[in-house]
Amino acid sequence: MSPSSPHAPDNCIFCKIAAGQIPSRKVYEDDEIFVFHDIHPWAPVHFLMIPRTHMASMADVGPEHAGLLGRMMALAPRLALEQGCKPYPEGGFRMVVNTGAEGGQEVHHLHIHVMGGPRPWLKG
Ligand code: 5GP
Ligand code: ZN
Repeated sequence: MSPSSPHAPDNCIFCKIAAGQIPSRKVYEDDEIFVFHDIHPWAPVHFLMIPRTHMASMADVGPEHAGLLGRMMALAPRLALEQGCKPYPEGGFRMVVNTGAEGGQEVHHLHIHVMGGPRPWLKG
């Protein structure tokens, strides 16, 4: 879905990043998933995984999204290692999906944070 889709807000920053209209430090992309470094990293490794199709949050997820979300989850370990996270169990990584105001979500295009690397981290 492009940012001009009737279902995506015109001003969605992550739609624009996935479309290449706003620059980002790309980690990975395929037909349905785009991955890029967080602009304000909390940890030595901190990237965001998004579906190219606009979805506001996990609150919009239903059974029809299980395949896509499963592919995003399954991709994360490989990308975490490629980005410098040490292998499990000594290394590892954290995955977070903030959802809604009380969940701490600031950008309303579903995204999975993947964080790792040596501690201490800026947060958490
Ligand atoms: P949230 O609080 O919604 O879970 O996280 C949004 C994340 O997106 C934040 O960690 C923030 O640093 C990141 N972010 C916001 N705007 C941009 C941007 O324009 N480029 C990149 N690369 N990251 C962004
Ligand atoms: Zn979007």
